[in-house]
Amino acid sequence: MLKEGFIRNTIDFIRKEFNTSEFIPLHEPIFNGNEKKYITECIDSTFVSSVGKFVDEFEIKLAEFIGVKKAIVCVNGTNSLHLGLELVGVKANDEVLTQPLTFIATTNAITYANAIPVFIDVDKDTMGLSPKSLQLFLDENGEMRNGECYNKTSGKRIKACMPMHTFGHACRIDEIAEICSNYNIDIVEDAAEALGSYYKGKHLGSFGKIGAISFNGNKIMTTGGGGVLVTDDEELAKRAKHLSTQAKVPHAWEYRHDEIGYNYRMPNINAALGLAQLEQMPKFIERKRELANKYCEFFENSPVKFFNDADNETSNYWLNAVLFDNFEERNLFLEKTNNSGVMTRPIWQLVSTMPMFSNCQKTDLSNATWLEERVVNIPSSVK
Ligand SMILES: *Cc1c(COP(=O)(O)O)cnc(C)c1O
Repeated sequence: MLKEGFIRNTIDFIRKEFNTSEFIPLHEPIFNGNEKKYITECIDSTFVSSVGKFVDEFEIKLAEFIGVKKAIVCVNGTNSLHLGLELVGVKANDEVLTQPLTFIATTNAITYANAIPVFIDVDKDTMGLSPKSLQLFLDENGEMRNGECYNKTSGKRIKACMPMHTFGHACRIDEIAEICSNYNIDIVEDAAEALGSYYKGKHLGSFGKIGAISFNGNKIMTTGGGGVLVTDDEELAKRAKHLSTQAKVPHAWEYRHDEIGYNYRMPNINAALGLAQLEQMPKFIERKRELANKYCEFFENSPVKFFNDADNETSNYWLNAVLFDNFEERNLFLEKTNNSGVMTRPIWQLVSTMPMFSNCQKTDLSNATWLEERVVNIPSSVK
């Protein structure tokens, strides 16, 4: 059984690391760079809305940082994911394979595309989509017809797969990509939490046909609200920009639109904030990895397991996570830490158990359920 002393020591350790006796949040943004300067410049220019130099510069710098050809910034991560699905050709009633252990946005985005999620189990060590479970599902349900994958059980087309990199840790994305390519299933990577995370030296979000990253206020860097689509496909990038700006055909004064688009473009003022934050990313990552190393040392030989870098990955350690032996110990820890002003939070409730998605097809979800009962996030802000 978890000793109260261990919980007390953990609280003391976290308080010492964050050097405060006040409330410690899970993740808060910091603005110590050019944020105010760029935002003031943006306001002075009057170009605060959907076009402007900060949008252009932010997109170029993001593409460079991530190592992709194109980056298209959007209003948030959720609509980036939605657009990503439409861009690869997901249509109404198609199925999208995803993981049940994720933030609700992943599954909501699938629904916005009028597609149906199918839940595949995760791996215990990565907390991300399991290639083994994916292969098993496709062995049993997948059937190729005219070069496209169909689900024998539902009769529907399986058009895409949306794996997610949990807390900035990589799932086995190369194995997933190989399986999906055998079935002609496109990958739209939910790398919302993974800016600055790498798998085999390649930035997460750049493995699929298209990837999405979030800049929400609680992520590793923020634009207030925002997201980005990343891709190496220039045509797809062009279409992304088109669809995200109401599908407006460029013209100096006429309103011409050639399909149904969205108002998903990131405003210039958010991009100004983003550009200033992006400049500090190397420092943010360095500090986050330092904190993670300290946590790792602290939790060595303790009753909980700290989620460290796995083989082949370099994590941004967006949210540090620990694994408890069981549900009761997890709950005791959550209660004691939150009651003493140190914010901790359990991993998400499985989306597949929520009323809106409980009727969707799913594989055996033992690993996801096992993690749901045991994983807790601990304070992770950049200091
Ligand atoms: C944050 C997040 C999103 C959505 O991003 P928003 O910018 O908040 O819309 C999507 N998926 C995951 C896994 C996330 O953590």
